[in-house]
This record gives sequence, structure tokens and C-alpha cells, in this order.
Amino acid sequence: MTRLWGRPLWTVILLCAAALVVWPIFGHTAALFALVIALLIVLLHHIYHLSLLHTWLRQSRAADVPVGSGSWEYIFAYLVRLLKRQRASEFSLSKALGRFERAGEVFPEAVVLLGDNDQIVWCNPRAETYFGLRLKRDRGAQITYILRQPQFSAYLQSGKISKPLSLRLMANAGDRVVLIQMVPYGNSQKLLLGRDITYWERLETTRRDFIANVSHELRTPLTVVQGFLETLEDSHASDPQFVERGIKLMSEQTQRMTRLVNDLLTLSRLESTSGAPSHDKVNVPGLVQSLQHEAQALSAGRHTISAEIKTDDWLLGSVDELQSAFGNLVSNAVRYTPPGGKIELIWEREDSNPVFTVKDNGIGIEPQHLARLTERFYRVDKSRSRETGGTGLGLAIVKHVTNRHQGQLKIDSSPGKGSVFSITFPDTRITNARKSGPMPVAAANSQNT
Ligand code: ADP
Repeated sequence: MTRLWGRPLWTVILLCAAALVVWPIFGHTAALFALVIALLIVLLHHIYHLSLLHTWLRQSRAADVPVGSGSWEYIFAYLVRLLKRQRASEFSLSKALGRFERAGEVFPEAVVLLGDNDQIVWCNPRAETYFGLRLKRDRGAQITYILRQPQFSAYLQSGKISKPLSLRLMANAGDRVVLIQMVPYGNSQKLLLGRDITYWERLETTRRDFIANVSHELRTPLTVVQGFLETLEDSHASDPQFVERGIKLMSEQTQRMTRLVNDLLTLSRLESTSGAPSHDKVNVPGLVQSLQHEAQALSAGRHTISAEIKTDDWLLGSVDELQSAFGNLVSNAVRYTPPGGKIELIWEREDSNPVFTVKDNGIGIEPQHLARLTERFYRVDKSRSRETGGTGLGLAIVKHVTNRHQGQLKIDSSPGKGSVFSITFPDTRITNARKSGPMPVAAANSQNT
């Protein structure tokens, strides 16, 4: 700083000293005149540089800092240094801001910065999608104008923002459930975070429904058994006919519970095994023949059951899973086809893909049920399903096994005419190593029949 005022001061002192030196030689008038002229020149020099500075400040073009002389040289050099420093910090600030915005864009949650009065200051693209916001349009608007749900306003007003709030929001493809969480920051600003929990919400609903369904399915046979036992206790213990009927009933109901528990265990095993199914070499032609015999036993002569094996392909996959899936389709065909009906099991190739098909000319299914048939416990006709020993889980098992083998389940049905269930497998699962692979027990038995 001393350089700033030291130089002009020294100039003035030097000029005064020079005037004092010339005073005795040229007289005081000439000395004073020379001093005034010199001081005027110094003043003009400063006025000139001040005007340069003024012009530059008005244009404010960083690149054109004027070049000065004397103490102005130092002032302008200092300005250049100051500008460079400012530009460097602006650059690092804009880089940091860019980084923050880029992070915000890929951030998996919605983020909205709210000002003192809950007005929108900034938001990331996900917040625009979740809340129907447009940052350009809505910057400065109150968040409650955008999120108009009364629960949200109540949540903001309650001041208890540390607890999350789940909001159901309208989205293009169905409703979306978003978990809102507010985080206070700075003096009175807030950060609004939103996480899409639609999937978890659906999962929770499915879990609740599943538990309700299982309880319901188990309660019915248990009520029957309990009812019989109570009546037995009361009076009829001595009536052999009543006891016989009761034991038969209890046996049916316990079988029903066993079937349900077995199907539940199968489903749970399928759902909890995330890896690929085992790579057995499955003798599908043998399996189809074996299923034909099982179906004949189940039908007890009431249906005509045929098996058409058009390819001798074996499949790479899990013997147990495929046996269970194919078996469910076959037993469904028997159970939903009135006596006298026809059931066909077909193993063939379509294009290059192996396909297992079960055709029946039974009761068929109304088109509105087709999309939901593979849901757990979904039945078209509950009483018919239960009367024939159904658990409502068969097709859910089929669907899981099919998916685990990268297959495709197709259902074609017309009420009163019959149904066609087929599973198409990828040709990469075909194996013809018939001699080297182990033969499933069921298939081995059927080879000779
Ligand atoms: P269920 O144990 O009740 O048979 P599934 O999951 O195997 O359960 O089948 C679901 C529903 O699909 C059945 O309740 C039945 O209404 C219908 N369904 C399945 N297979 C057939 C078929 N071959 N013909 C007519 N309806 C069928």
C-alpha cells in the first residue's frame, strides 16, 4: 500500500526540492512557476489514468485492463492480478456447480431445494418427473402449489418433518408412491427428498394379500375338522356311521392342507432360488408318457388321454421343476374337463424351439381371466377348484418354472370349447445326450409302458 501513495509523495517532495534548488539561481517566481507546471503535469497524468480506469470500469471487459505508468502501473497490475484470481475462483465455483448439477441429475432420488418460504430454488430432473415440476416455469413458486395434497400441506405445517411421509402421486403410467423426507439446512432452507417406493408398496400389498389368502385357505379345512371334533365330543361318539363319515371328511381336509403346504413349499423354493435351475438332462419324451399314465389314473377312465411325442429332444433343466410344471398342466386338464372329454399331451418342435402342450376340450376360460391365471390363489371358479383338490397355486408354479427355464407360457382358451396351455423353451436348452444323462425316475418307469 505504501507503494501506492509513497511514489506520488516522493514525486511531490522531489519537485519541491528541485524548486528550492532553482530558487536562488532563477528567483522565486521562476521556481514557483516551474513547480506549479510540474504539479499540473502530475495532476494531468493522474486525471488521464483516472479516465482510463473509468472507461475500463464502464466497459468492464476483463481482458482490456489499461496499461498505466507510475503508480498507476502498480494499480493496474494489481487489478489484473485481482481479476485473474476472481476468474479462477469463478471457474472452480462453476465447475463445482456443474459437478453438483450432474450429480443431481443422476441422483436416484428427487431433490428439491426450498427457500425461506418453502419456495422452489432448484430441483433435479427426477423431481420434475415425480412431482410434475418444471424448474424454468416453477422456480420461485411455493412447493405447496405444486404438491397440492392436503397431507403434504399438513405435514409441512406440523413441523414434524423429520418423519417421512408417503404420498400417492399421479404419474403417466399409473400411480406412483413417493416417500417424502425433508432435511432442514442453512438458516431456514429445506431440502426435500423423494424416493419412489411404488415397487415396495406393491410388494407389501402382495405380501399382505398372500398372508390373508393362506390364512383363509387353511381356515376352511381347519373349521371343518374342528367342527367335527366338537360334535364328536358333544354326543355322537357312539354313532359308528357318524364317526366313519367324520374320519373321511377329516382325511379329505388334511389332504387338502397337505397339498396346500406342499404347493406353498414348492413356490417358496422356486422364489428363493435366484440362480439358474439345475442342469439335468431331462428325458421329456419319457416324462410325457409317464404323465399320460398319471393322468389316466387321475381320470379313472372318464377321459380319453393321448400323448403325441413328435421329437425325441431332451431338455437341459431341473427334472423336479419340469415334472411339477408339466404335471400341474396335465392335472388341471383332467380336473377342468367334464367326463367324456379329450386331453392331448404334445411334445414337439415349433420352428427350432421345443414346445410342451396340453390341450383339452373342457370347460374353457373366459378371456377376462386369462391375464390373471398365474397369480397366486387366482381361480375362475373357486368351488370347482376346491372340489377337485385345487390349491390355486398350480399355474403360479408353472409360470415360475417356465421363467426359470427362459421359456414362454401361452394360454389359449374359449369357454365351453376347451383350453390349450403350452410352454415354449429356447432351443439352447435342447440336449440330445440321451445315453449319457441320468433318466428321471418318473420318465424311466414310463419308457416301458
Ligand atoms: P387350481 O388349483 O385352482 O386349479 P391353478 O393355479 O392350477 O389353480 O389354476 C388357476 C385357475 O385357472 C383354476 O382355478 C381354473 O379356474 C383355471 N384353469 C386352469 N387350468 C384350466 C383348464 N385346463 N381349463 C379350465 N380352467 C383352467
